[in-house]
Amino acid sequence: MSRVALVTGGSRGIGAAISIALKNAGYTVAANYAGNDEAAAKFTAETGIKTYKWSVADYDACAAGIAQVEADLGPVEVLVNNAGITRDAMFHKMTPQQWKEVIDTNLSGVFNMAHPLWSGMRDRKFGRIINISSVNGQKGQAGQANYSAAKSGDLGFTKALAQEGARAGITVNAICPGYIATEMVRAIDEKVLNERIIPQIPVGRLGEPEEIARCVVFLASDEAGFITGSTISANGGQFVV
Ligand code: NDP
Repeated sequence: MSRVALVTGGSRGIGAAISIALKNAGYTVAANYAGNDEAAAKFTAETGIKTYKWSVADYDACAAGIAQVEADLGPVEVLVNNAGITRDAMFHKMTPQQWKEVIDTNLSGVFNMAHPLWSGMRDRKFGRIINISSVNGQKGQAGQANYSAAKSGDLGFTKALAQEGARAGITVNAICPGYIATEMVRAIDEKVLNERIIPQIPVGRLGEPEEIARCVVFLASDEAGFITGSTISANGGQFVV
């Protein structure tokens, strides 16, 4: 029987590429999303992947959503925490609301999803948790104190949880994408993208969502069982740790 993988924010952007790559690798995939019903319906129609709507920022909604996925498909053995938002502003203009929304989704969301799944993974002695962080969580980015803090927090969470899960056969790893061609990045002013951002990327282009998805498929595999607490940087050479 194929393993069940749950991808948050899995019906658009990088998450959609991850859901499709996992399906192509033989997993039964559930894709969570927050509110874009139209994109989710189109995604299901095109791929046959079931979509589930709840906010990762809401713990009770995550627990209920996971229970629904498990009732439909079976125990979740692979969790990909991909859902994320930006609310960019220079710090002197950043509102408490912008801070809170980004922390609630990008950092607490990872706790809210992993926590209800943790005891089942421990009992079954197998689990894969893959957290999609960001190059801006590694290096910090002006205008993104909220996002950089949350994404950096995801890396600390990954390292701590990896140590707790190791003996139970659960690996916990992170991927830090650089700039990837999705709506999140297309929202950046084109002049800024072409004149300031792309010139900072040694390979000279944005990454593709499928390039992140391939890292996820590798980390989810049985063959990656010795890799835990790690961070894969996939950024075209933009930031070398
Ligand atoms: P998109 O904006 O294209 O897609 C975001 C996805 O997350 C959507 O499916 C959205 O759902 C979902 N989502 C947002 N908030 C919530 C929530 N509260 N609960 C559940 N789902 C939610 O983003 P990307 O594909 O560009 O980014 C994916 C991940 O990769 C994010 O964590 C991002 O921070 C990270 N990343 C992206 C980079 C890039 O260059 N694009 C670079 C580095 C990291 P819905 O469709 O309903 O809106």
